[in-house]
Parts: sequence; C-alpha cells; structure tokens
Amino acid sequence: MIRPIVKEPDAILRRKATPVAELTPEIERLIDDMIETMHAAEGVGLAANQIGSPLNILVASPDAKPGRELVWINAAVTHRKGNHTSPEGCLSVPGISSPVERATEITMTGKDRQGRIQTLKAEGLLAKILQHEVDHLQGHLYLDRLKPGEKEPLLQKYRKLSETLRKIDL
Ligand code: ZN
Repeated sequence: MIRPIVKEPDAILRRKATPVAELTPEIERLIDDMIETMHAAEGVGLAANQIGSPLNILVASPDAKPGRELVWINAAVTHRKGNHTSPEGCLSVPGISSPVERATEITMTGKDRQGRIQTLKAEGLLAKILQHEVDHLQGHLYLDRLKPGEKEPLLQKYRKLSETLRKIDL
C-alpha cells in the first residue's frame, strides 16, 4: 500500500528511531509499504519515519528497479572514509536540493528482512543513499549538515513553496 510521505516540519522526522526487537507480520507489511511508497514517489531510499513509523528500518533502491531493493533493520554506519560533496534532495522536503558533504565509503551493519545480520561496504550512490537514510533514523535531515548560512535560505524557499502548494491543493 502506498502511504503518504511525512513532510518537514513534522516532529516524527526529528525523532530517533526505535530498534526493532522482533520481525512480525506488521513489520513485513510496513517494509512492503515502504518499498511501494518509495517507488511511487520515484525515490531511491526511504526511512520508516518518513511514512510515520518510529521503527529503525530503511529501504534503498539505487538502480530504481523493483525487486532489487535493499532492506536494513536496526541499521548503523560503523566506518566512514573519505569526503565527497554531491547534490541531495529529500522526499520529506520536496522542491529543494543542495550539495551535501558525505563520506565516500561506509561500512554498515544491521539486519536484513529475514532478521539475519548483514554488513556491507558501500561507495558511490549507494553509500550516499544509506547515509541519508541512516540520518533520518537518527532524527536528522540532510539540511542539518549544511552551514547555517546555506540551510536557512533553503528552508525559507521550501516553506514558501509548500505554502503555495497548500493553496493550490485546497
Ligand atoms: Zn530524505
């Protein structure tokens, strides 16, 4: 089921995710919904709080191909290497984007959707997506990584834009 995407400034985007203790049928459905919602929004990654769940789950689809998604439960970045700046946007802050500095290479640990422990060394686009989504699970947006002089004008632009969209939506 496609679910509505939570938008900035909703408080759940600022909350640190709760670890998943046990995989249940409800969590299975949540993961399916996250994957469906991510593709419907033409996103390449989604964190559970972006559809209103407090749980530590993220999905990623670097090649945007259905059926090849990565699922991470209780995800954590354990190593970061190098620095690289490239543009990022966010489904929860639509209409704006900005260059963001990230590690070039990361190591992730967590569980897959069968509950098996997985670790992964990632670089390039996948490393960028995973860092962006792990930030969400920590209650951070990519905007928080910008300098105050960059973040404020962008946020103002976003607020104006969402105000206009609300008026059109009626
Ligand atoms: Zn995002």
